[in-house]
Amino acid sequence: MFIKPRIRSFVCTTAHPDGCVAHVRQQMRYVMSKPLLPSAPQRVLVIGASSGYGLASRIVAAFGGRASTVGVFFEREGTKKKLASAGWYNSAAFEAAAIKEGLYAKSFNGDAFSEEMKKRVTSIIRRDLGQIDLIVYSVASPRRLDPARGKIYKSTLKPIGSSLVTKSICTDKKEIESVTLEAATWEEVFHTIKVMGGEDWKIWISSMADAGALSEGFRTVAYSYLGPGLTRAIYAQGTIGRAKIDLERTARELNKQFGDRTAFISINKAVVTQASSAIPAVPLYISILFKVMKERGIHEGCIEQMYRLFRDHLCSPRGPRLDTEGRIRLDDLEMREDIQTEVTKIWRAITTDTIDKLSDFKGYQKEFYHLFGFGFPEVDYSKEINPVHYLPDPT
Ligand code: NAD
Repeated sequence: MFIKPRIRSFVCTTAHPDGCVAHVRQQMRYVMSKPLLPSAPQRVLVIGASSGYGLASRIVAAFGGRASTVGVFFEREGTKKKLASAGWYNSAAFEAAAIKEGLYAKSFNGDAFSEEMKKRVTSIIRRDLGQIDLIVYSVASPRRLDPARGKIYKSTLKPIGSSLVTKSICTDKKEIESVTLEAATWEEVFHTIKVMGGEDWKIWISSMADAGALSEGFRTVAYSYLGPGLTRAIYAQGTIGRAKIDLERTARELNKQFGDRTAFISINKAVVTQASSAIPAVPLYISILFKVMKERGIHEGCIEQMYRLFRDHLCSPRGPRLDTEGRIRLDDLEMREDIQTEVTKIWRAITTDTIDKLSDFKGYQKEFYHLFGFGFPEVDYSKEINPVHYLPDPT
């Protein structure tokens, strides 16, 4: 089988296994070029571990902290005739590399929202590791089947209150356009909170605590985003922003239940992932942000952010440094006043004709292709590949 990228709006329906290996190795090389993390958590569970921030967290935990890792994700397995999803190939590449390095790694493919998955993961943790020291919650999902009620919730990316007209980039046609986004109904807000809020995070922690699978002094972190005024109506004040408020509320509840400074929210920077490319206006914002941050030598992707999270916060002897609202801020560089002033100036001025001059859309696209294993010079894309990549059964 020969594979080419097949892009449909904000998704790529194909993935290249060798390219995904290259993407994972690129992130591993970054981490392994850094000093080993002192006092890193040694038994780490990452929920949402196959791409984006979750994959980067797992790579830092394993190759930066020598941790045993357990990963949970929802990906498509390949067959002789059908490609797997990028996250499957990423996870197969991660697990093979971890095992080669003598690190314990087990991966569970299936629905993290289900009770069955929680039970399977907990029982393997009890059997193999005893307990977990750090749980990273990095699920980004369009839907959730609530096992307790048998109901399906669907998350949306919409403004609240009134409709929104915003600048955006049509990534297929490379054109600046104006898009109108209808306001969410209250039912849509509720659904988005159910999918992307803190409920499932809390269920994971409670069910693992009940099974005795959490170590004394365990910690947990979930990821969020705030962003600037430019994306406020669609992000922070939109449906997804409401879900993130719920996530923060959950962290406070977990801290009441398990002790202060157990649960953390890390506000990460905007990066190119499958989840962020689906948010209207965000690809344009990221393209401009990349240009401005690269010019100042402060550009970061998932792996740089996650290494910083572990080095400066989770592995720091003083523990995580928090803002006045009790959150870790990895978006500090993105939100710097000089950065945002420049981004806003460009946002107002940019037109289709000036996309390459005023933004780093090329950089955005390159990273987007990388997500699916395309665009790595070391990969021979003319070579026939086997779509079936092995991921061992965790049990
Ligand atoms: P992503 O799309 O790269 O990864 C999502 C992960 O969730 C994948 O591993 C996927 O398999 C897993 N997943 C989805 N549904 C699942 C299910 N039902 N069961 C098990 N696993 C499931 O996403 P990302 O951008 O890395 O986002 C991760 C978190 O980081 C989210 O909370 C997001 O809001 C947050 N965040 C993202 C950005 C950004 O710019 N991308 C910025 C700040 C915070």
